[in-house]
Amino acid sequence: MRPVLLSKIFTPISKIPGISSRLAPLLEQACGPEVVDFFWHLPNGVIDRNFFPRMHEASPGQIASFIVRVNNHEKPRNRKMPYRVKCTNEDGDLTLVFFHSHSEYLKKELPEGELRLVSGKVNIYKGKIQINHPDLISPVEEIDSLPTLEPTYPLTEGLNRKPLTKVIQKALNFAPDLPEWIDPDLLQEKQWPSWRDALQSIHAPQTIEDLAPNSHNRKRLAYDELLADQLAVALIRKNKFQEMGRPSGQYGSVVTQAETLLPFKLTLTQKKCIDEILTDMMANKRMVRLVHGDVGSGKTVVAFLAMIAATAAGYQATFMVPTEILAQQHYETINTWCQALGINCHLLTGSIKGKNRKATLNSISTGQANITIGTHAIIQQDVKFENLSLAIIDEQHKFGVGQRLALSQKGIHVDLLVLSATPIPRTLLMSAYGDMDVSRLTSRPKNRGKIRTAVKPLSQIDSVIDAISRAISAGGKVYWVCPLIEESNFMELSAATARHKILETTFGKQVGLVHGQMDQSTKDEVINNFANGPIDILVATTVIEVGIDVPDATVMIIEQAERFGLSQLHQLRGRVGRSEKSGSCLLLYGNPLTSTARARLDILRQTTDGFLIAEEDLRLRGAGELLGRKQSGLPQYKIAELPLDNDLLITAHKHAKLITNTENFLLQSYGPALQALLYLFRRDSALTLLRSG
Ligand code: ADP
Ligand code: MG
Repeated sequence: MRPVLLSKIFTPISKIPGISSRLAPLLEQACGPEVVDFFWHLPNGVIDRNFFPRMHEASPGQIASFIVRVNNHEKPRNRKMPYRVKCTNEDGDLTLVFFHSHSEYLKKELPEGELRLVSGKVNIYKGKIQINHPDLISPVEEIDSLPTLEPTYPLTEGLNRKPLTKVIQKALNFAPDLPEWIDPDLLQEKQWPSWRDALQSIHAPQTIEDLAPNSHNRKRLAYDELLADQLAVALIRKNKFQEMGRPSGQYGSVVTQAETLLPFKLTLTQKKCIDEILTDMMANKRMVRLVHGDVGSGKTVVAFLAMIAATAAGYQATFMVPTEILAQQHYETINTWCQALGINCHLLTGSIKGKNRKATLNSISTGQANITIGTHAIIQQDVKFENLSLAIIDEQHKFGVGQRLALSQKGIHVDLLVLSATPIPRTLLMSAYGDMDVSRLTSRPKNRGKIRTAVKPLSQIDSVIDAISRAISAGGKVYWVCPLIEESNFMELSAATARHKILETTFGKQVGLVHGQMDQSTKDEVINNFANGPIDILVATTVIEVGIDVPDATVMIIEQAERFGLSQLHQLRGRVGRSEKSGSCLLLYGNPLTSTARARLDILRQTTDGFLIAEEDLRLRGAGELLGRKQSGLPQYKIAELPLDNDLLITAHKHAKLITNTENFLLQSYGPALQALLYLFRRDSALTLLRSG
């Protein structure tokens, strides 16, 4: 299916002549498996071969060129010693040093008595100036034909600059002329070069400015990537909408009745959000909607009312959440409401086994269970619904696309609602969730206590201990979150264990410990003892981040807060202040803070608006690090960079929509170009969807 023009650039890099079996895996690791991957490995600097300093003026580490006469070759006495070639010019002596090199080759390249241009990184050894393995050795007559500026590339361990540069140059020779996919007006306005020109030029920088983020070449390639991405998203979206939904009648009155049961009044944004959901559910197309609301904004009740609507129309609804404990919590809340309405609500998790499980599965398959709340257990094969019409997923980022799909396949044309508290900035939403409609819960329920946030050094632990004592005597509960150590679960665990021990010396049995390596039932027991039992201080690794609701919790302490992403800190802070009681959050730092780190933590002190925090974090750190590597879930681009290329993302989004709204756009004159673009960035699976849809 792939256009012939492109077949060559998808050649495995190991099949390219001249690439050794030792080099191939290193290259694959650094750039990717195929020729095309080397296109996107962009230079990070340039070397100026035109730098000809006086010999004594060259400083170690500098890349410099010299014209020298070759004096004599010194063969090593044993294999451990290097091969040396002594050279001179009017300034003094220069030694060229080679390890494990062939003498015949060196004799040919550097004939004794001749003039040569040599270029490479200068070092000083025993007071003498030398170059180890020069990058360039050339007869002086050829100087004019040499490139004066050479790109440098990001390297990985074991992979050196010279072989990588060579392979990238080889790869570029495979780049074909492709038909233009960018809209002519846009191309005109931006004055961008063609794809091939942009690619060739970006790998042949003439000055360091050519590598600036705003260079025409980089912008053009970034736009290409974003357009491919948005085009794929638009195709997937279109495919979804072609699926029929199941209009579920009028159920406004049922929802209104359910509302009267709630112990509180819905906020305006909750109301609006429910309206949007009901409109989708009644429409003759499938709902695929994201409810995006900060921690504590009240998403659960929105999910509940949507499920009530589905049951009122005679269908089943299900609510899948990432942990056993959350499932239990949601079940307890929702079941109370359901009972008052005469609606049958069930819980299905991994720990429900044997007879109980059988009975539950039976209720689900006969349609007796109107609402099922549970964990991954719901997507297991033997769980069969009679007529599921609504599937809801809580904390969407904890589930993969596969699980999302598995859940919606438990029925026919199932409406899908996902809930997320991950405060993704508006600008990124489009790329992360471009295939969904979005409802936002922007306001928090009013009756909430205030959370005060302070930033302190860990060395002030005595005052922290005092604060804990005060909170506990006022009937509060305290979370203590231990440092996030991305590289090592083991270190994370040992930090938590150590902190637990220390706090135990002051607070004894009031301190509990919970971490990721515990089995689920132990974890649940500890958390239950914290929520309703004797534990007042819960020492935890980051496992507690997912929406646990302990209304009595009033203090959140986060150790080495500077290691966390701001959004993650915000999520953690959201664990306190979930009732009318006011609370506090202490961000403790270990080492003196850099000014950026200080600025980041200050943002948390100044605002509790998760979206604002996300925008600021993005501005300070860039998208890649927005949520920490562990759970970013955001698209990773090879060329484009957010927020730098936000403007391009928005343009690409608009254009992709226009294109896919055109009937049979692949048959239009620009069709083949767009097809090539999708292949180029490996987004061609969207095309398959188009055909099957
Ligand atoms: P999240 O969006 O983080 O999932 P929850 O749905 O768990 O938030 O809601 C947090 C708390 O706020 C719950 O105890 C819930 O009962 C309460 N709540 C939800 N909506 C309202 C409201 N409109 N007024 C008052 N309290 C509310
Ligand atoms: Mg929640």
